[in-house]
Amino acid sequence: MDAISAARSQIRRNIDRMVSEGAEYSDARFFTEDWSENLVLYDGNLEANDTGLETGVGVRVLWGGAWGFAASSGSSGIDASFDLALRNARTAAGLVKVKLRMGSASPVNGTYTSPVEVDPFGVGLGDKLDFLVSLDSRLRDDWILRRIVSAAFTRRHVLFLNSDGTEIEKRLADTFAEMTVMALDSDGQMQRRSMSLFSTGRGSRGWEMLTCPDLFGGHAERIKSELSSLIGAEPLEYGRRSVILLPGQTFLQVHETIGHPLELDRILGYELSFAGGSFVTLDSIGSLRYGSEKLNVSSFGGIENSPGTFGYDDDGTPEKDYMLIDSGILVNVLSSRAMVNEANDRAGRKVLADSGGAARATAFYRAPIDRMTNVNILPGTDGSLEDIVASTADGIIVDNPTSWSIGSNREHFHFGCEIAWEVKDGRRTRILRNPTYQGHTLEFYNSLDAVGDESTWRLMQVDNCGKGEPNQVMQLGHGVPVVRFGNVITGERGQ
Ligand SMILES: [Zn+2]
Repeated sequence: MDAISAARSQIRRNIDRMVSEGAEYSDARFFTEDWSENLVLYDGNLEANDTGLETGVGVRVLWGGAWGFAASSGSSGIDASFDLALRNARTAAGLVKVKLRMGSASPVNGTYTSPVEVDPFGVGLGDKLDFLVSLDSRLRDDWILRRIVSAAFTRRHVLFLNSDGTEIEKRLADTFAEMTVMALDSDGQMQRRSMSLFSTGRGSRGWEMLTCPDLFGGHAERIKSELSSLIGAEPLEYGRRSVILLPGQTFLQVHETIGHPLELDRILGYELSFAGGSFVTLDSIGSLRYGSEKLNVSSFGGIENSPGTFGYDDDGTPEKDYMLIDSGILVNVLSSRAMVNEANDRAGRKVLADSGGAARATAFYRAPIDRMTNVNILPGTDGSLEDIVASTADGIIVDNPTSWSIGSNREHFHFGCEIAWEVKDGRRTRILRNPTYQGHTLEFYNSLDAVGDESTWRLMQVDNCGKGEPNQVMQLGHGVPVVRFGNVITGERGQ
């Protein structure tokens, strides 16, 4: 028997032991490998070259309605981790006011493998640096003050077993990259343009994705040329106008004001002391008008190529594809098994049918919490970006966030963006610098008046979503089209 099969048998024996000790539920995630690599070129110099490898097991035991969690590195601490998790749960059981329930689920036997053609961990460091240096040299110019080019890779092999009898094996891989150029404008303020590696939602997510010009490198000359216009541009004047968001900005708008407020643990108050709460209540689900009829938002765990696709979540729930907002009405939220049961218990009725498959932990030594998978705005019927511009009387097109400030319950927001293009009488005119816009979440989404078609849709990758205590940095995706909102407050008073 190899080491992995032996660990699997040992975990199964321990889960059975926990059940015989009276546990209502138990599971373990065994990371046989968790590789990460991060490369950063700063002004052409190698600023970061970090590679990490972690292995270990994380164990949960639900006993007396309370969680106990324990983890240990390697595979030698499996028995001890179960003992400690059980002890923690027994201690916690005397202290909890609300007893948690995982409920029952049918056993699942499954595997998931991220599609990869060329494993980035099989590409030599020299070849990786050659690629980044060559990209950096294309960004270089006398007038450009800062250049940052970065790439990050992960590769994980995870065994998951639980007391439902479920056994899952996952081989997960992610590739991220970003390039940024900066220069001083006429007021001495630093302006920037950036570009992140994105996906079409299809294809594979290995080294071949990073080196595909359409998805990343082919945009180097464009961001440089846009920065050149930006440093000589006028600032955006304060006023109400239409705002057209490109996917490079839409993804963060969706992330902060749809994704986070719809996390069920947040709705139930679990994140109040850290990330904040949500204006959404259990009573909102099924009736709240979140946006105009053009707003259709899905949680789509089955997108072929996204960091938010992983086959099965960390409760053992298979990926789910469902609507969160249907023609503007809030119909569901992002959830895990225990949170769905707690929501239904607290409401005294069945608010939610079952888990949304969104329990995720960032490492073996962290417990799963409710996270986003792929939270998407579905493509609409208002045509291409050009079609949307053509039907805009007075507005701006904005791309890429520079700053964001979000109400702690996600009820309002303020974003600064890298660049704006003015739109007058259906035509794109000049570039404007320092664009900002703000609004109240529900008022804003109710002013959604155009949604671009499939040609405008991009799967934007997020590699730095932070949540939980202790903090867990998570990777996910947002598939978003070009969208337009009417009568939005833009710019800053006095500018
Ligand atoms: Zn986030």
